[in-house]
Amino acid sequence: MHIKELFGKKTVYSFEVFPPKKTSPVEVIYDTLDELNGLKPDFISVTFGAGGSGNSKYALDIASRIKASGITPMLHLPCINFTKAEIDAALSEAQERGIENILALRGDINPDIPPVDEFRHASDLINYIKAKGDFDIAGACYPECHPDADNIIDDITNLRRKVDAGADHLITQLFFDNDSFYEFREKAAIAGINVPIEAGIMPVVNKNQIERMVTTCGASLPKKFVRIMTRYEHSPEALCDAGIAYAVDQIVDLVASGVDGIHLYTMNKPYVARKISEAVSGILGA
Ligand code: FAD
Repeated sequence: MHIKELFGKKTVYSFEVFPPKKTSPVEVIYDTLDELNGLKPDFISVTFGAGGSGNSKYALDIASRIKASGITPMLHLPCINFTKAEIDAALSEAQERGIENILALRGDINPDIPPVDEFRHASDLINYIKAKGDFDIAGACYPECHPDADNIIDDITNLRRKVDAGADHLITQLFFDNDSFYEFREKAAIAGINVPIEAGIMPVVNKNQIERMVTTCGASLPKKFVRIMTRYEHSPEALCDAGIAYAVDQIVDLVASGVDGIHLYTMNKPYVARKISEAVSGILGA
C-alpha cells in the first residue's frame, strides 16, 4: 500500500525503528517489532545507515518482518555514499519483497567517508527512484532548518525542489517547540509545498538522550522542556514519565492544529510507544 493514500482521511500515525548494532543478530529487534506492530500504527519506517554503521544489511529484513505482520513498512534509503548500482540493488530487493514505500535521503556527510557523488541531494535520488518503479516516496524536512543550509528560506527552496522531483509526503526532523513546526508549515505552504507533512516526535526518556539532544541535534529546547529535564534528569522513572507526558502534550497540540501525521521516533522502546499510543488513541481518532 502506498502511504500517500492515507493522508487526508485520518491523522496518520507512524513509528520509526533502527536496526540493531552490527555486533548483534537481527533477531534482537523482533520482539520489539512484535510489540510495536500490536499497537497498529499506519506504517513503521526502518532507518538505513548512510555508510559506516554496518547494520544496514538488516534494514530490508526488518522491513520484510513488518510487512509479514500486516503493517506497511517504509525503508529509509540514503544515497550520498552509494553508487547507482548499489541503489539499484536496494530498490530491486525492495520490489522483490513487496516494499513499496521509500524515504529518500541524502544522508549525513561523514568527514571520514568521501561522498561517492553519484547522487548529491535527496532530490537526485527521488528523480532516480521515480524512473525505477511504482514507489511511494517520502522526503525529510527540517522545521528549524537543515544544519548545512545558510537559512530557512534557502532550505525551503531546496525542499520545494525535493517535492517537485516527486516526494509524495514529508517527515520532519524532531522538534520540541511546536511553534517552530507551525511557522515552518506556513513558510512551506507559501513556497507552494502542498504535500502532507508528518511531525517527527522524539520522546526523551533518559539522560543519555538529553545529552545527545544538547550536543548533536539542532532542535531548540523550550524553557518548559529544559525545566522538566533538569528537574528529573537524576530520577530515571520520573524522567521517563515526564518525557512521555511532554511528547503526548506535543501530539495533542499538533493534532488539534490539524497536523497531517505524527511520526514517533520510538528509539526501539515499545513501552514508550505503547504509553504514548494509549494516551493519544482517542485524539487521533477524533
Ligand atoms: P537533502 O534534501 O539533500 O538536503 C541536504 C542539504 O542540502 C540541505 O541543507 C538542503 O537545503 C540542501 N539541498 C537539498 N537539495 C538541494 C539542491 N538541489 N541544491 C542545493 N542544495 C540542496 N540519515 C541516514 O543516514 N539514515 C536514515 O535512515 C535517516 N533517516 C532520517 C529520517 C528523517 C525523518 C530525517 C529528518 C532525517 C533522517 N536522516 C537519516 C538524516 C538525513 O540523512 C540528514 O539530515 C542529511 O544531512 C540530509 O538528508 P536530506 O535527505 O534531508 O538531504
